[in-house]
Amino acid sequence: MTEILVVGSASGFPVPGRGHYSVLLSTSDKSLLIDVGEPCTRSLIEAGTALNAIDAVLLTHGHADHTGGLPMLIQTLWLSQRVEPLTIFLPEELSAPLQQWLDAIYLSSNFIPFEIKFIAWKTQHFFEVCGLQICPHQTTHLESLSRKFGNNRFKAYSLQIEHPDFRILFSGDLGTPTDLEVPLANPVDLLVSELAHFSPTELFRFLVTRRVQKLLLTHLAPELLGNEASIIQEARKQLPEMVVLIAKDGLRVPL
Ligand SMILES: [Zn+2]
Repeated sequence: MTEILVVGSASGFPVPGRGHYSVLLSTSDKSLLIDVGEPCTRSLIEAGTALNAIDAVLLTHGHADHTGGLPMLIQTLWLSQRVEPLTIFLPEELSAPLQQWLDAIYLSSNFIPFEIKFIAWKTQHFFEVCGLQICPHQTTHLESLSRKFGNNRFKAYSLQIEHPDFRILFSGDLGTPTDLEVPLANPVDLLVSELAHFSPTELFRFLVTRRVQKLLLTHLAPELLGNEASIIQEARKQLPEMVVLIAKDGLRVPL
């Protein structure tokens, strides 16, 4: 059975009872971890996940709330006697600095017995990962950095994940919901969307004409927490055909 486990559902600001962004996608025989906001490893253990079953890590972008849990994940895999290589897919600009970070804290492949492979995303290029086809789509989330520093180095991605039985889209972090225009040209069974950088109304208005069967909202801005019931009510009005769920840590969503 394929399912999504919400490992961490907070936005970039810490709140009680929620870890930062991390989601585990499990099929009958494979597990992919999408982003590693801390404390994802402890949360995975609390959820009863066999850590050594994680086949690959997919990073959407470099912000700390999506990458900060990487060292403890590697350290825990090492202490769990992992020997299988671990592949980390990531924006190209993160590849060398993350390897240096792991090396500085004795967790690179120089120190531990399993290989860590880094593979850089190429936008709108399909990658085969554990029998799934994964296509990264660049979002405008980091555009202000590119404007400020005058280059095109900073990349944030949405991840489209395809399997003969399902199609899922992880929004990653967005600039605006319209960043999802291209990956939502085709219907999806599940959209996992962030809700930290625009209002629920903006997102729902954009989704009215999209073919999304189930919408899982996560990464809610702190000011939206506590307003879940009214967000669901608004979704029912604007998107009556769509199943809409709001994430909390530990929530499992079957496909
Ligand atoms: Zn974020």
